[in-house]
Amino acid sequence: MKFDSNYMITMKDIIREGDPILREATKEVALPLSEEDKEIMNCMLQYIKNSQNPERAKKYQLRPGVGLSANQIGLNKRMFAAYFTDEKGELHEYTLFNPKIISHSVSMIYLPDGEGCLSVDRTVPGFVPRYERIKVKAFNMDNEEVLIKLKGYSAIVAQHEIDHLNGILFYDRINKDNPFSLPENVSIKSVY
Ligand SMILES: [Zn+2]
Repeated sequence: MKFDSNYMITMKDIIREGDPILREATKEVALPLSEEDKEIMNCMLQYIKNSQNPERAKKYQLRPGVGLSANQIGLNKRMFAAYFTDEKGELHEYTLFNPKIISHSVSMIYLPDGEGCLSVDRTVPGFVPRYERIKVKAFNMDNEEVLIKLKGYSAIVAQHEIDHLNGILFYDRINKDNPFSLPENVSIKSVY
């Protein structure tokens, strides 16, 4: 198994746009979790942490990221890792298997600078409308079902990753005619 506990994911492992695996909906992970799937998850989380460490990122040429889905390293598995500080300065860490959005707010938000992606080697300008609040049902590393409420920046990160698991890339959600136009008849504001 490639992504075992001794393996360090680098940019050469990251699947880029154009590869059909990024356009496929991923398959659910079997429960209880195999040791292999847990090790893959730990590798993915470690990439995110390494990429945010300036010395490590420079040494291993890692592009900084806040989330990583399994299909971004070529695995057809419904799982993602995320690690980031939100707009209030709170640290979030998620390692979620078979995540599903079970409900969401009507109100929406967007990042004023748009979104980026480790699988997209270019800047795609435009606003990406996301739900302001979501409830996600998933399984954690201990095979427990968890219900997570997310809002603001953390809701954006989770929606970006769950989109990956459904074969969707962030720019699919940017208005084609005017990338900086926002959906009408819905409350939508910038996160910051
Ligand atoms: Zn992405």
